[in-house]
Amino acid sequence: MDLPWAEPYRIKTIEPIYRPSRVEREAWIKAAQYNLFNLRSEQVYIDLLTDSGTGAMSSAQWSEIMLGDESYAGASSYYKLKDAIERILGFPFFLPTHQGRAAENVLFSAMIGVGDAGQGKVVPGNSHFDTTKGHIEFRHAKAIDCTIDEAFDTELDHPFKGNIDLAKLEAVYKKYPRQAIPLCVLTITCNSSGGQPVSMANIKAVAALSRQYHIPLFFDSARFAENAYFIKTRETGYSDKTIKQIVREMFSYADGVTMSSKKDGIVNIGGFIAFRDQELFRQCCTFNIMFEGFITYGGMAGRDMGALSVGLDEATEFDYLEARVGQVAYLGRKLTDSGIVVQRPYGGHAIFVDARKFLPQVPKEQFIAQTLGIELYREGGVRGVEIGTLLADRDPETHQERYPALELLRLAIPRRTYTNSHMDYIAAALANVKERAGGIRKGFVIKWEAPIMRHFTVELSPAP
Ligand SMILES: *Cc1c(COP(=O)(O)O)cnc(C)c1O
Repeated sequence: MDLPWAEPYRIKTIEPIYRPSRVEREAWIKAAQYNLFNLRSEQVYIDLLTDSGTGAMSSAQWSEIMLGDESYAGASSYYKLKDAIERILGFPFFLPTHQGRAAENVLFSAMIGVGDAGQGKVVPGNSHFDTTKGHIEFRHAKAIDCTIDEAFDTELDHPFKGNIDLAKLEAVYKKYPRQAIPLCVLTITCNSSGGQPVSMANIKAVAALSRQYHIPLFFDSARFAENAYFIKTRETGYSDKTIKQIVREMFSYADGVTMSSKKDGIVNIGGFIAFRDQELFRQCCTFNIMFEGFITYGGMAGRDMGALSVGLDEATEFDYLEARVGQVAYLGRKLTDSGIVVQRPYGGHAIFVDARKFLPQVPKEQFIAQTLGIELYREGGVRGVEIGTLLADRDPETHQERYPALELLRLAIPRRTYTNSHMDYIAAALANVKERAGGIRKGFVIKWEAPIMRHFTVELSPAP
């Protein structure tokens, strides 16, 4: 018999978590105005709000915390990180930043420009992440989504739903002059389409096309290691390669990367930009000094740079990724077995529950995915996050509600943090909600909302 995967680590330190009673959960979610972001973490039993900065560090990473060199310039921790980025990703130049969006801010200041310098410019890519899109639009440029159409059908099984449609990309390259396209951003894995990977063949083709049109190609690489795992396990020709070989090949096609280290860096905070071109690196240095900090710390403590240098190594080991992606799929299969419709194939960092199929009787005006998130908290103290109408927000011009194609409840799994018993518990809680789903006919209405980014602070009440 083939032995199954199991975690390539054991637990040395534990963090107790409290399992609130039903009476407490009811009182707390009401006091939180039915907004899951308003709950205190102590009121949550299993927290699947995000996989960002919530992973567990290893003993080797904690050792680096003690070894951290906090010198302002030229700290040894900086050089440890520089060496790791050069060795694992293959980039000779890098700048630390305090997190991923800061890397975007610095890079785009140099490549798109500052103020409204982005007017008339476009940045094509595969479903840009919110902060990426935010930093593009903040400069009055436009993000153009060139993801393949298959990505938008939740039940369709396609191994690489993060792929770019080359015809869509070439249409953008043909329509706009070279100066109007400062860069193309390829997000690996594609967070916004459900943690779906991009194939090596697609990466190669996007790079070739971009080179042909002289457009720089950058990777938004928060989950690059999970992407490499999917290439190894799904794409022909890669099964015998190590994750580190695949990672080196992936990045060999990029001019540079932005990174949120809170994901596949397995640290609690941090980010960076890496470059091949010294001239662009130099331009970014100025913005880094203004926005982040001196070029050898960029908003990160030395100890965190040290921990990140180790995290990059650990995240690019096959056994770790097999357990990581395996745990996400384990939860996905459990839910599928209970007849719950989730996005297929299972992503690298999260399971997305199709809330419209789960609660068909809740009207779309009453926030279906949010309603499911509240019911899951009520049932078991589990916190997910709504990816639906609340997040989609109103149209900035007409102020009408925008109803997205999908109402999803995202269950993001922190790295190395929960056990499969926790996954069993989550699946049981959701199955219990499913059993009484026929009786859930009403959702929620807005009591108060902010003019933008309302989902973080919105206050709701049960629909009358
Ligand atoms: C998280 C994330 C970012 C932003 O990074 P932060 O560290 O949260 O600022 C950018 N792109 C992707 C794909 C992400 O997942």
